[in-house]
Parts: sequence; C-alpha cells; structure tokens
Amino acid sequence: MKDSREIINSVLSDGRTELMENESKLITSKLGIPTTKFEIAKSPEEAVRIAERMGFPVVLKILSPQILHKTDVGCVKLNLANENDIIESYEEIIKNARNYTSDAEIYGVIVEEFAKPGHEVIVGGLYDPQFGQCVMFGGLGGIFVEVLKDVSFRVAPITEYDALEMIEETKGYLILKGIRGQPPADTDSIVDILLKTSQLMMDFPEIDQLDLNPIFVYEKRNGAICVDARIILNPTRHE
Ligand code: ADP
Ligand code: MG
Repeated sequence: MKDSREIINSVLSDGRTELMENESKLITSKLGIPTTKFEIAKSPEEAVRIAERMGFPVVLKILSPQILHKTDVGCVKLNLANENDIIESYEEIIKNARNYTSDAEIYGVIVEEFAKPGHEVIVGGLYDPQFGQCVMFGGLGGIFVEVLKDVSFRVAPITEYDALEMIEETKGYLILKGIRGQPPADTDSIVDILLKTSQLMMDFPEIDQLDLNPIFVYEKRNGAICVDARIILNPTRHE
C-alpha cells in the first residue's frame, strides 16, 4: 500500500491538485485518525458484494476527480440497508454525475461503512501566506458551518494545550462539554485529531488546504470518526 508521500506525488504527477476522498482518507488513516472504512466498486454488483463483506448499512459516494462536492450534485447516498437500495443508488449516482458534467471521469463508486450520527465538528488545515501552515477547528459542523462560522485557528505545530484551547474557544464547546443533562463528548479524540493534523501540515508543506468535514464525535471514551476528507495541494510548495 502506498504511503502518504507516494499518494501526494502520484496526484501531482497526474496533473491534479485536489485529492479525491479515497486518497485523502488513506492519508488520514495512515496518520491514525479514525476514518470510515471504504472500498471502491466498479459496478452495482460489486458494490453489493463489498457491502455484504463490510456489513450493512453502507454509504455510496461518487469517485471522480471532477466532483469534489459530492452532495451538491446528488452523488452521496446514505444508510443503504439492502441489495436493492444499493443497486438503485449506484445507478442514480452515476446518472447524477453524468448530468453534472458529461465529461466527468468516473473511477467508480466508494462503498463506505455508515457511521452512526454524532455531534458534527470540523478539523482543517490551511496555508496562510503570512503564518504558514495553520490548523483550524470548527465546533459546529454539518449544515451550520457556513452560517455560523464557529471556528478557531492556530499556527502549526500546535501543542495539546493549544488544541484544547481551540476547542474551548468555539461555541460548539458548550454542546461538546454537555448541556442540559446531555453527556459530554469525547474531546480527547478531537485533541488527538488536531495534533495529528498539525503534524501532517508540518510534514507536507505542499498541503494548501485540508478539510475533515464532518467528523462525528461521540460520548466521552467512545471516540470520533472522520466521514469525509479533502486535501488540496499547492504544487509550487512541493519539494
Ligand atoms: P460532500 O462531498 O458533499 O462534502 P460528504 O462525504 O461529506 O460529501 O457527505 C455528505 C454528508 O453525508 C456528510 O456531511 C455526513 O453528514 C454524511 N455522511 C457522509 N459519509 C458518511 C458516512 N460514512 N456515515 C454516515 N454519514 C455520512
Ligand atoms: Mg463533506
């Protein structure tokens, strides 16, 4: 299996600057960030076979270098619990992808384990012209992120203390620490993901932007899982 350096090199040598979800997720899983398991299917029947191996329910998502915002174009199908749903969803995803751009290169469909819902947060990385590699935390992920912009930033590399502060600075922390009898969330696993993201940004100066969006966070001691990952490169910073 390719290591992260090889994945990045091969994306750049393909003339691409944006990694697909499968490539980004190989990098996050290698770092030890809990990430949903997936396999790639080239036909509806193969998707069914993968789901039977992986266990139902599953999620299907388009795998195409031209489609990086998959939901916007009807290319994500969640919580598919049987063979029929998988076959129909597979065909619908391909149809929607073709409608979006008839010349989209379609490498197949990602079949992914369905993660049970949790509090949605975002961890990001970005290059700032003044500060260099930075780490971002968004305390309210999902549909709230655009509207509420509940984010905090630090220059990488960060310490564990910085990571904790980043979480506490957001409004989402009120929910994460547990309000109105709700159990507290597993902030330790967010700290761990922030530290690993900081390390990745330091190791790869060519990463221009990284989005782990969303990460589902569960109750304390129950962990967190990254369900979508996107990495964008700047080839001019590639050594
Ligand atoms: P997009 O390219 O549109 O950002 P995502 O992969 O983030 O696509 O999927 C859209 C939404 O579907 C996510 O924000 C999340 O709420 C949900 N989702 C995606 N993957 C999974 C999964 N494996 N398990 C459960 N929910 C998921
Ligand atoms: Mg996403």
